Amino acid sequence: MPKEFNTEPAFAIEEDLNDPIASFKSSFHFPKHNGKDAIYFCGNSLGLQPKSIEAAIRIELDSWRERAVGGYFTGTNPWLYYHETLSNSLSKIVGASAKEITVTNTLTVNLHLMLLSFYQPNKTRYKILMEAGAFPSDQYAVETIVKHFGLDPADAIIEIAPLTGEKILNNADILKTIEHHGSSIAMVLMGGINYYTGQFYELEKIAFATHQIGAICGFDLAHVVGNIPLQLHEWNIDFAVWCSYKYLNAGPGAVGGIYIHERWANNIDTPRLGGWWGNDEKDRFKMEKGFHPKPDASGWNISTTPVFNMIGLKASLEIFDLAGILEIRNKSIRLTNYLEYLLNQLPNLAFEIISPLSYENRGAQLSLYFKENGRPIHDKMKENGIIVDYREPGVIRVAPAPLYCSFQDVYQFYCILKEHF
Ligand SMILES: *Cc1c(COP(=O)(O)O)cnc(C)c1O
Repeated sequence: MPKEFNTEPAFAIEEDLNDPIASFKSSFHFPKHNGKDAIYFCGNSLGLQPKSIEAAIRIELDSWRERAVGGYFTGTNPWLYYHETLSNSLSKIVGASAKEITVTNTLTVNLHLMLLSFYQPNKTRYKILMEAGAFPSDQYAVETIVKHFGLDPADAIIEIAPLTGEKILNNADILKTIEHHGSSIAMVLMGGINYYTGQFYELEKIAFATHQIGAICGFDLAHVVGNIPLQLHEWNIDFAVWCSYKYLNAGPGAVGGIYIHERWANNIDTPRLGGWWGNDEKDRFKMEKGFHPKPDASGWNISTTPVFNMIGLKASLEIFDLAGILEIRNKSIRLTNYLEYLLNQLPNLAFEIISPLSYENRGAQLSLYFKENGRPIHDKMKENGIIVDYREPGVIRVAPAPLYCSFQDVYQFYCILKEHF
């Protein structure tokens, strides 16, 4: 660590002064508390609204009003290609070529589409390995796809759980379990970060172990994209999906993203459900028989680009382009480490950090299990204009998203705990 932390208020002020991306805080709207900006630690659920979104919406409203159908081909952002600029920005964030990325639909829908492309069970190889306690929507998607193929979820789904007495998955155990089930596994499908514990899995090693047994490796990156920089292509991951309303700040229900490794994306014979927006543009409007998918990830697009559901993402990615995902991650590591340090200076507080204790294995989130006072702590935070997430039995998830949370925000959180508990 370049400089040790301490519990002085002046330390937080100095950290903010030295923070190269501190100015981006003013690019966002904050919910208000007693007329002042609240402190927002819920960016892992719904990111804040970038101020630039209103102007970006106005551009498309103007284009629609002035050009109507012409807006597909002309104007500031011709709608026919609207998703392509988004793929360029996302390629830096997820570490893949723009051709391996497309933005379309929403997360769970995209997960189903990827399952239909990449889950091809046969008599001996039909199991899906996933994490126990995966986000419910992912569990439902896998349960229903398995049933769709006439299989029994109790047999076809393998869930990997933490070792006895532990809260997070053991990395070596994940790899061992993959190897153990070997050729019965058709697909390994994990969250990149577990939404509850905040554990960031070793994606590259999981992909390698999965390919060793001849299976497909996919990830749900809802809690990772915009939080931790990735190298999806280099790590040889087959496919991934994510939403844009958490760390990407694109707004509630915003368009989701898909990554498909070029070895699948370039191959027009890779199975998929087709629609005209995945068809080559040059004969899209000929309205002829025969689906000719584009030879890249956009060949999975189905419907007309939902432009008004993409504007938030466009505006938000412009902020990511300016700040840079590596700078964002650098600040994030220091900010979350600082939060961890401060919490550990509170001897009277009975709590456990259920997130991984090493920064390499987590993003911007610490999940804190308060053995007592979980609910009162949450309520006291709220009273003081600090928004955090609470889950029974006593788990508070704190996510200091680095684009709009400061060291002084984290210090405030500490002060309230110190003063009242
Ligand atoms: C947030 C989240 C979802 C939500 O899916 P939607 O289809 O966007 O509602 C699904 N899975 C995971 C892992 C999530 O974190």
